[in-house]
Amino acid sequence: MKITVLSGGVGGARFLRGLRGHVRATDPTSTITAIVNTGDDMWLTGLRIAPDLDSIMYTLAGENDEVRGWGRVGESERVSAELRAYGVGWPWFTLGDLDIGTHLTRTSLLGEGMPLSAVTDRLASRWDLGVRLLPATDDEVETHVVVEDGTSMQFQDMHFQEWWTKHRAALPAREFVQRGVASASPAPGVLDALATADVIVLAPSNPVVSIGTVLGIPGIRDALAAASAPVVGISPIIAGAAVRGMADACLTAIGVETSADAVAAHYGARSSGGVIDAWLVDESDAALLPGIAALGIRAAAAPLWMHDLPTSQQLAADALALAASTASGNRRETSRG
Ligand code: GDP
Ligand code: CA
Repeated sequence: MKITVLSGGVGGARFLRGLRGHVRATDPTSTITAIVNTGDDMWLTGLRIAPDLDSIMYTLAGENDEVRGWGRVGESERVSAELRAYGVGWPWFTLGDLDIGTHLTRTSLLGEGMPLSAVTDRLASRWDLGVRLLPATDDEVETHVVVEDGTSMQFQDMHFQEWWTKHRAALPAREFVQRGVASASPAPGVLDALATADVIVLAPSNPVVSIGTVLGIPGIRDALAAASAPVVGISPIIAGAAVRGMADACLTAIGVETSADAVAAHYGARSSGGVIDAWLVDESDAALLPGIAALGIRAAAAPLWMHDLPTSQQLAADALALAASTASGNRRETSRG
């Protein structure tokens, strides 16, 4: 079976690790391809940084810092301290030394003219990831946030990372802008991974700045609409709250309520121009199922907290089961004509 996952960083990484575990235990011939958000990527102190690709790579390699929740395990920060002493870079954005090794490698390969997708392949080949990582695009698309400056009452535009990390998403966002998106195209392999998939999963990732940015690359939304595979989404919202992080601030900015059913409605049923056929919510949100079904989306409830590998693996199994029941439901409806 070919499984294609649209993913952001941390939420996507946890899900992919569970999916890999489930696949290895049940059907090792299955393949997993992740189409990963690159809207958080940026240039900093001469380095090209790709936070979501790296979060996934480190997590699948078993090299991530579980306690802190991001970056490499056993990390030191001597280089960042030097940069701070020279007054370059962002003092509130610490890069670990091992992590800088990744960014140096990426930057030097990009400088030789290698596209990001090939660079990602090269970085990933060092580890046994069990998941093919594809950046959504090789083009530089960067998410910027338009915020209202409280003192001057003027609008200010900043890189997503500055809004998220420096301001902890506390400045009310007016708009998210994907710089460079209009002229971007999907990276090699992306459209094919959607067209040839047996199952497509939207990971429990930020619907606005992770999945939303991937869907914004011209051609990806259409490929999803045209795919023959069932498309299952997993709610990143449990009981009215973003489980980890501040996704609620992003949803509020685009006028979507922080609830599992509102995010389902935001994605919309594929049968009426949206991107999902089915939607998995947490058990605590089971009361929302009839409302989601009324949108034309097959809905089910399961435990959605990814506490550890077993819970992430079970979530992957539940998502694939929902996909299978969606596919057989579609077949029945088609044969009934
Ligand atoms: P980022 O790029 O690092 O922000 O990561 P993603 O976009 O992939 O995912 C971030 C979102 O994942 C958070 O806003 C949460 O809503 C969601 N998330 C994180 N952990 C869990 C979890 O255990 N279960 C579920 N259902 N969602 C989660
Ligand atoms: Ca991210």
